[in-house]
Amino acid sequence: NLTSRLSVVIKTLRGEARLTEANIQDALREVRMALLEADVALPVVKEFIARVKEKAVGKEVMSSLSPGQALVGVVHQELIAIMGGEKTDINLAAVPPAVILMAGLQGAGKTTSSGKLAKWLMEQKKKKVLLVSCDIYRPAAIQQLELLAKQIGAAFFPVQAGQQPKEIAAAALDFARRHFHDVMIVDTAGRLAIDEAMMAEISALETLLKPIETLFVVDAMQGQDAVNTAKAFAEALPLTGIILTKLDGDARGGAALSVLQVTGKPIKFAGVAEKMTGLEAFHPDRMASRILGMGDVLGLIEEAQRGVDQQAAENLAKKIKSGKSFDLNDFKMQFQQMRNMGGMGAMMDKLPTQLTQAAQKVKMDDKVMGRTEGIINAMTPQERVKPEILKASRKRRIATGAGVTVQEVNRLLAQFEQTQKMMKMMNKGGMAKMLRGMKG
Ligand code: GDP
Ligand code: MG
Repeated sequence: NLTSRLSVVIKTLRGEARLTEANIQDALREVRMALLEADVALPVVKEFIARVKEKAVGKEVMSSLSPGQALVGVVHQELIAIMGGEKTDINLAAVPPAVILMAGLQGAGKTTSSGKLAKWLMEQKKKKVLLVSCDIYRPAAIQQLELLAKQIGAAFFPVQAGQQPKEIAAAALDFARRHFHDVMIVDTAGRLAIDEAMMAEISALETLLKPIETLFVVDAMQGQDAVNTAKAFAEALPLTGIILTKLDGDARGGAALSVLQVTGKPIKFAGVAEKMTGLEAFHPDRMASRILGMGDVLGLIEEAQRGVDQQAAENLAKKIKSGKSFDLNDFKMQFQQMRNMGGMGAMMDKLPTQLTQAAQKVKMDDKVMGRTEGIINAMTPQERVKPEILKASRKRRIATGAGVTVQEVNRLLAQFEQTQKMMKMMNKGGMAKMLRGMKG
C-alpha cells in the first residue's frame, strides 16, 4: 500500500536539514505513483513533478520532519495553489439575464448540474433563475430538465415543438428579458464522444447567447480521458470554469488536476450527489488531499507543524515577556509561522483589529515574506541578534548572498524596526496571551 511504502521512505530520511535532489528522489517517485493512481494524466503528472522539484530543492526542513514528509507537504501546498489559484466564485456581472452555458459530453451531468446550479443561485444569491433546454436530440431530455425545474421551484422555458437549438436560445433570451430573470441557465446536448456537429452547435449557441459563464461539465470518473475531452472543448469554446461531477463516487479525482491544467480554468463547483442539493463550492484543500491520497502522512505533517509553531510561539512569548529584545531571528520565525498558518491573509483574520492596522503599516504580502526569509538567512548569527551593526559593507554582502538589492535589505530592516515597535506595543497589551490565542 502506498501510504506505508511512503512511510518507509520518510523514516529512512529523517534528520536532514535541507531538501536536495537526492533526499527527495524516492518520495518524489511515490508522489508520482500517487498521482498516476489518482488518474491524473501522464503529461500533467510530469509537468507537476518538475514544478514541485524546482520548488522543493533547497528548502529547509523543520526539525521534527523528515525530508520525505517535508516534500509531501510541498506537494500538497502546490496542489492547493494550483487548484485554488484563481478566484472561483461564479460571475454574474452582466446586464440581466446573466447567461450560463453548460457544455460537456453526454452523461457528464449537464442537465443535473443545471438544476443544482439553479437551486444554488436561488438560495445562495437570491436570484430569479430561468432554466432552458437546447437538447432536442435525446428523447425526454427537455422533460428531464422541466421536471428538475418543478422540483426546485425554478422557472422553465417552454420549448415549442420543432424549434431548433438556436431558435430556442434566442426565444428564451427574449423571454428572460421580458420576465425579468436575473440568470438564465442553458443546458445543451452532448454526444458520447467529441464530434464536429456538436462542437459547431454549441459554438453557435455561445456566439448567440454571449454567456458570462461557459462552464465545462466533466465527470470525475472519466480519469485519463478527461484530458482529451477538456482540450477539445477548450479549443472550441471560451470556457470560464469547470463543474466537476460525481465526486461522491470513488474516483480519486485526478481528472480535476488534468482538466485544470489543460484548460487553465478554475473549478467552480463540485457535484457530490445525484440529488438537487448535491452541488458544492469547490474546495481545493480537500481535493488536494484526495488526489494525493496520503491522508496519514498529511495528518502527520500538520501535527508536526502545529507542534513546531506552538513551541516557537511560546518561546517568543516568553522572550518578550522576560523583557529580552525582539531580534531578526524572531522576525524570521514570525514569517515561518505566518506561512504555516496559511500566509499573511489568513493571519490577518486571526489578529485583533488594532493589530491588523499596525501590521498593515509593515505592508507585506506572501511573496515579500519569502524574500525576507532569504535575506535573513544570508546574515550571520551575530547580525541577526544585533542588527545595529549592519553598515554598508555588511549590507552589500547580505544582498549579494540573498540575490537581492541593497535597497531591499534596507527595506527589510525598516520593516523589522516597525515590527519591533509593534512588538513593544503589544507587550504592554499582553503579548503572551495574544500569541497563544492566535494558535490553532
Ligand atoms: P448530461 O447528459 O450531461 O445532461 O448528464 P445528466 O445530468 O443527465 O447526468 C447523467 C447521470 O449522472 C444521471 O444519472 C445523474 O443523476 C448522474 N449525476 C450527475 N451528477 C452527479 C453527481 O454529482 N453525483 C452522482 N452520484 N450522480 C450524478
Ligand atoms: Mg442532459
